[in-house]
Amino acid sequence: MNTEQRLRLATVWLSGCSGCHMAFLDLDAWLLELAAWAEVVYSPVASDRKVYPDDVDVALVEGAVANDDNLALLLQVRQRTRVLVSFGDCAIHTNVSGLRNPLGAAEAVLQRSYLQLADGSGQCPHAPGLLPALRTPVLPLHALVPVDVYLPGCPPDPARIRAVLEALRRGERPRP
Ligand code: SF4
Repeated sequence: MNTEQRLRLATVWLSGCSGCHMAFLDLDAWLLELAAWAEVVYSPVASDRKVYPDDVDVALVEGAVANDDNLALLLQVRQRTRVLVSFGDCAIHTNVSGLRNPLGAAEAVLQRSYLQLADGSGQCPHAPGLLPALRTPVLPLHALVPVDVYLPGCPPDPARIRAVLEALRRGERPRP
């Protein structure tokens, strides 16, 4: 990575609770320092850009892959990003997002949530073309694409997020 140029940074939200992104925002004043050497080119917390851009240096990818939209975005991120960081325990081993895996198909969870626990008038969500199809099993990122760096934690400690980004700026590949 060329340290003379601002690092092109993305953060991506797949199937996670957004807690990893909240930990990133917990870096508070350091984010101003980050802005001096990194440009956030895609992020759910920093812009409303809908299309993942080309030529991204580093992407922090939160969450597991639990539906077709997650998979499509992950493949695009991998194709357009030099360093893909598996950001948090859901991304690394599915964690909370994968709790439905032992139940088998996602249908069992939908039935339990929307019908069995409903007050009698429940119905499963059905909006073809609007809601992405759920995938079974929920998978961690490295099961689908090569991952360059793992940043564990639920959520990762903000100090660890900072340390990883600073190492990547120096051209290092931090190992957990
Ligand atoms: S790792 Fe924890 S904080 Fe991050 S998305 Fe998953 S459940 Fe939320």
